[in-house]
Amino acid sequence: MTEVRVRFPPSPTGYLHIGGARTAICNWLFAKKHGGKLVLRIEDTDTERSTEESIEGIINGLKWLGLDWDEGPYFQSAYAAEHLAAAHRLLSEGAAYKCFCTVEELEARRQEAARTKSDYRYNGACRDLNPEELAARETTGLTFVIRFRVPRGEGFVAFKDRVYGGIEQAYRDIEDFVIVRSSNLPLYLLSNVVDDIRDRITHVIRGQDGLSNTPRQILLYRALGAPLPVFAHMPLTLDHKKAKISKRNHGEIVTVQYYQERGFIPWALVNFLVLLGWSPGDDREIFSREELIAAFSLEGMTRANAIFNHRKGDPKFFTDPKAIKINAHYLRTIPVAKLAELVKPALQKVGIWDEAYEKDRRAWFQRTLELIRERFHTLSDFASLGRAWFADDFSMDETALHKHLGKYPQLKEWLPELAERFAALPQITPDEAERISREFAEAHGVKPGIPINAARMVITGQSKGPNMFEIFAHIGQDKVVKRLRAAGQ
Ligand code: GLU
Repeated sequence: MTEVRVRFPPSPTGYLHIGGARTAICNWLFAKKHGGKLVLRIEDTDTERSTEESIEGIINGLKWLGLDWDEGPYFQSAYAAEHLAAAHRLLSEGAAYKCFCTVEELEARRQEAARTKSDYRYNGACRDLNPEELAARETTGLTFVIRFRVPRGEGFVAFKDRVYGGIEQAYRDIEDFVIVRSSNLPLYLLSNVVDDIRDRITHVIRGQDGLSNTPRQILLYRALGAPLPVFAHMPLTLDHKKAKISKRNHGEIVTVQYYQERGFIPWALVNFLVLLGWSPGDDREIFSREELIAAFSLEGMTRANAIFNHRKGDPKFFTDPKAIKINAHYLRTIPVAKLAELVKPALQKVGIWDEAYEKDRRAWFQRTLELIRERFHTLSDFASLGRAWFADDFSMDETALHKHLGKYPQLKEWLPELAERFAALPQITPDEAERISREFAEAHGVKPGIPINAARMVITGQSKGPNMFEIFAHIGQDKVVKRLRAAGQ
């Protein structure tokens, strides 16, 4: 069997679009599954947009997601001479021809078609020039484009897309398309095919927007005498209003970087994105790398458009709630040493990282993460909602605090009193903390929840969180005492 070779050929845009990332993920999975190779090819023929930064944005996105490739990056622009040579080969074999029609002539025909409400298609004026006519035009030095000679007659291009099934396009509906511009620049459609042939691509797995190119590309494969790859087109990703998601209309939310900056775990994003248009055939939603590679298949791709619903759910979440849910799942379940590595940059970003968390306070740090991760959704939550664990200048959920103090103004005196009980202990353990809290509540004739919830507020800044006795014991006696004392001021 021939080796599976797939490719991810982004055009440089400066960022990795989540739709592009999904394409990359599916190709990566397919290569891994079949022990094949993934080729990264930057389709940078639009030289104006292809700056170093615009390429870097994509490569960084792929690396952050953990998607490795086996070959490349190759740069399409480096192969321009080869693309041109292919066009000239087609020309010499009669599979393509020079077209001398001027822009004005073409425009006049286009307008005429619009006037008579007929479909415009190149009329083939230069398709069958005889050798004398051709020579006459060539000697006058007229500029020309190279057009592909689409077969005429009743036939059609037919192929089986692995997702969309049997597809046919009649020859009569395909115009003699341009493969080289008058400026001698090969066109994308041709370059893409020549590159895929050279890179020995066996499976073209790409977005549904490539589907309309496929019949013309198949004609090019045939004319170039190359075997056809398998084609599999993936459904588009649409928003809740069924509009294609784009940076222009949706902003940064469609870029991988956005998720990176907001505290996503890379694999969680991979896991979310692969489910946009692919299904394992059962109701599983969470996959380890190995599970996903085993479960992935082109047959599992769905034809229905995938909906990226960034509007659904709780407005405090910044993206599709399913993405948040999957990320939260990974936050809660990955090994805590791994989580520690991922939280580090989030704390560094806001200046509350302490080197000791990797040295003598490593155990404390990891246990803290374990305690607080239950309620968190992103890595950034550790730096914001979890700030009180790592810094003394944290903000308090003021409304929640007033709710407590409003009902029991005495807490202002009680909490410093509680502070002294904790200060008197040689060391706080959860059991001791529970005993002290209960005795304290009883002494004041209130339910234990009253001082405990208020203490939670002033110690952690949050109204909810892990078991408070654990917090008393773990956050550090000095913090407990200082913060409870300060509640009296
Ligand atoms: N460069 C194209 C794009 O970014 C890739 C098309 C293809 O996969 O053939 O849309």
